Amino acid sequence: MQSDRSNTLTVVRQAGKSCPDCGEQRPADAFYQRPDGRLSTYCKVHQRQRSRESYRRRRQDPAELLRMREQERVRKRTTRSRLSMLDPAEKPDSGSPVTQRFDA
Ligand SMILES: [Zn+2]
Repeated sequence: MQSDRSNTLTVVRQAGKSCPDCGEQRPADAFYQRPDGRLSTYCKVHQRQRSRESYRRRRQDPAELLRMREQERVRKRTTRSRLSMLDPAEKPDSGSPVTQRFDA
């Protein structure tokens, strides 16, 4: 059974939504789609502008900069371990027998 959410998403995708920074309705493809399938709050232009600005602002603060680097490291590690789960052959230390099967 299809969830309500996908219906809502289809409607939103067709109607578009308004960007607070633009102050007007924009087509859905002017927005980034988030991993959960929803559209970002701001349109692509303003989303980019805002993340660039907040990045620059946060980098001014040495403590925040350190935190960002740590986050980046964790994210890379997470991505790597996710990849090795998807493809066990990619694991550098694949000495143990592969227990996961992907013949779905
Ligand atoms: Zn905008």
